Amino acid sequence: MAIPYSCQQITDDDIAAVVAVLRSEYLTQGPEVPAFEEAFATRHRVAHAVAVANATAGLHIGCLALGVGPGSRVWTSPNTFLASANCARYCGASVDFVDVDPATRNMSLAALAAKLERARREGSLPHVLIPVDFAGLPADLREMRELADRYGFRILQDASHAVGAEYLGQPVGSRYADLSVFSFHAVKIVTTAEGGIVSTQDPALARRLRLLRSHGMTRDAAEMEEPADGPWYYEQQFLGYNYRLTDLQAALGRSQLARLDVLQVQRESLAARYDRAFESLPLRLPARRPDRRSSWHLYAIEIDETRTGADRGAVFAQLRSAGIGVNVHYIPVHLQPFWRRQGSKPGDCPAAERYYRQAISLPLFPALSESQQDQVIAALRNALEAA
Ligand SMILES: *Cc1c(COP(=O)(O)O)cnc(C)c1O
Repeated sequence: MAIPYSCQQITDDDIAAVVAVLRSEYLTQGPEVPAFEEAFATRHRVAHAVAVANATAGLHIGCLALGVGPGSRVWTSPNTFLASANCARYCGASVDFVDVDPATRNMSLAALAAKLERARREGSLPHVLIPVDFAGLPADLREMRELADRYGFRILQDASHAVGAEYLGQPVGSRYADLSVFSFHAVKIVTTAEGGIVSTQDPALARRLRLLRSHGMTRDAAEMEEPADGPWYYEQQFLGYNYRLTDLQAALGRSQLARLDVLQVQRESLAARYDRAFESLPLRLPARRPDRRSSWHLYAIEIDETRTGADRGAVFAQLRSAGIGVNVHYIPVHLQPFWRRQGSKPGDCPAAERYYRQAISLPLFPALSESQQDQVIAALRNALEAA
């Protein structure tokens, strides 16, 4: 494939940072993980950042830290990666989906408010809401916070796409949600190969996350329930996991994070270039909102058959055969066979289903050159004309 839809950027500094850890005393549980957590927390202006093996692990222990268990009800967006829903099932919760706003492709506030009112009457309000910042555009967290306080649920924000994004003048992760989870998978904004962070302002939640990430175990004498037998003593206080990030990964993450401002501007300028190139085409483009700054993880367009006469599948195939690594984000989660067996069905989330039928993600990553981008633009014009 000539031009991928996403591609990590690894510099000599990144490589040197990882090699330095390889030559050091610790490969894991050394100084790099706390240093990365601190750098992330500072950059995102949040009190606590807990690094984990991947965002899926972060979502899992995020659910547990918020008390999700068998019998809990968790609601999320259908326009997301599988992990946003799976995390609640790991804990034995039931999962339901709130349809998206066709403009932003994020969870619709109107759909959420209506569903909450119905659930209140039926006595089936959710315990946790998992909104997703689709493509890096922050979801309507302020209004969701108001609804959370009114109806008594907690918010676990899946900010996997939104490293560095801003909402109402603050970096994502610093306000409104009880917990925010970020992904450092290789296709995301900054990478640790696999990796994630859970951020929170709440010290008690942060402490619980740290224990859940490492077997439910503490070595901190001040936290122990029992008197220590000696300096070797550690204590398991509840059931946890091995969801730790390694020092190798954290060093890569810290090196990448130092470039975040540059990476962000590169993504923004490429997105603006796509916007200008497509202005006059009959496409639906990603939404922009003056009160938030997207991280531009994805640039997803919609091919509206009624306006273009072009079929999404045909346009997709033509772009792929022109060497353009397009992709589709996302197949609505509630339509997956697993979730259908849990009771979801087509028609449950019509806006997400319509969006999915029309969506194509175009290549967008910092190292995409303008001439490569021009190739993408020309290939899309050709594909639309051929249709
Ligand atoms: C990538 C992604 C995840 C999972 O992240 P991992 O770090 O790969 O576990 C979860 N939710 C969304 C929306 C994602 O895009």
